[in-house]
Amino acid sequence: MIDLALSPDQQMLVETVRDYLARELAPTIAENDRNHYYDPQTFARLAEIGVTGVAIPERYGGSGMDYISLGLVSEELEYVDTSLRTIVSVHVGLCSFGIYIWGTEEQKERLLRPLASGEKFGAFGLTEPGAGSDVANIQTTARRDGDCYVLNGEKTWVSYADQADTFLIFAKTDPEARHRGISAFVVSRADATGLDTAPIKEKAGIWAGSTGSIFLNDCRVPAENRLGEEGEGFAIAMSSLENGRYTVAGGACGTIRASLDLSTAYARQREAFGQEIGRFQLVQQMIANMYARYEANRLLCLKAGWLKNIGEPSGRAVSLAKWQACNAAFESANDAVEIYGAYGYSDEYPVFRYLRNARAPVIYEGTREIHTMMQGEYALGYRGERPARCTLPAYEQS
Ligand SMILES: Cc1cc2nc3c(=O)[nH]c(=O)nc-3n(C[C@H](O)[C@H](O)[C@H](O)COP(=O)(O)OP(=O)(O)OC[C@H]3O[C@@H](n4cnc5c(N)ncnc54)[C@H](O)[C@@H]3O)c2cc1C
Repeated sequence: MIDLALSPDQQMLVETVRDYLARELAPTIAENDRNHYYDPQTFARLAEIGVTGVAIPERYGGSGMDYISLGLVSEELEYVDTSLRTIVSVHVGLCSFGIYIWGTEEQKERLLRPLASGEKFGAFGLTEPGAGSDVANIQTTARRDGDCYVLNGEKTWVSYADQADTFLIFAKTDPEARHRGISAFVVSRADATGLDTAPIKEKAGIWAGSTGSIFLNDCRVPAENRLGEEGEGFAIAMSSLENGRYTVAGGACGTIRASLDLSTAYARQREAFGQEIGRFQLVQQMIANMYARYEANRLLCLKAGWLKNIGEPSGRAVSLAKWQACNAAFESANDAVEIYGAYGYSDEYPVFRYLRNARAPVIYEGTREIHTMMQGEYALGYRGERPARCTLPAYEQS
């Protein structure tokens, strides 16, 4: 039997998060965005309502919700602003889930618990100035030295680099090898010497959030903070990216819904040629497309979340949802700007912010082109799902 209704717990979570965001964070977002300002209280406020540990089991300090809940929370956050959803993507999807899947029990206790409880803010450092899509070409190195690794290199375009306490960093323990030479390390800002961060100022959107670079200069990381074995870093990166993507797809549904809500309200209020612009069939077409995109992409996200809940590999479903939902969010925000006419091209209404913000998710966590190729390869049988050890454990109801 297929049940598309949200459970009472999921429904309650959505309502709680929606109310809290509307009251506590939404009122200042436009101004923060205008000022390119990330409010450092934001993370703690999300921790207050359990969002920083959503879908992490309670035994590791999380709030023990299922993976569909994570997608729904991502949608609510991005409905308000992409910068808020990005926190969950990097903190939960990319960093915490990496430790949850690949960490030993000791690492989960020591490294995952403070992330899930919201005591520490996690980020994900994979991209480098010379390597984005081509992950196997990263140049950061990790040399073993006694009971430490010594990391050297630069990571860039790291969301919340300046705010995070804990970084999941990828470096080559075998610089001659490509994929198989990569290892993963959990690096704590407080404990690491030789780690610096700096913001990227010239960003085209998501101004209420921050993005930056990480500089690693003889940065010493205890060997006990290596995640998985040497050489498993590529598999860890790909499994983390899949989980981050899932939240990006859920978030994109939030942008589509926000674009739809504002567009319908404006189309019923603005008049031209003696009638509401909503009466014009070409405006109706844009609104109908937004609605269709919302319904279709939300179903793709629900399917991906359901696969995660039952512990099945979801790489193909997540890639499809991320690819389609991000394109649809950008198109919907663009249509919303069109419906608002010249006002859409101003800062008076949020729709141009939606458009600016919606561009980056098409690029990050696998570009549009990378996902197109992945989907082609899945369909042709050239690509299969990753092994079970790369997959999140099935949801355990507590
Ligand atoms: C706002 C923002 C936040 C980000 N946050 C993070 C983060 O938290 N952590 C992190 O590690 N990274 C982050 N990134 C980086 C992001 O993941 C990369 O930008 C992305 O993977 C693309 O890499 P690139 O920019 O190097 O582009 P490139 O890989 O150089 O790609 C350039 C172009 O070439 C195309 N291309 C590349 N390879 C192929 C191919 N094989 N076939 C067809 N076309 C191809 C791409 O699709 C693209 O159009 C962020 C980026 C942005 C914009």
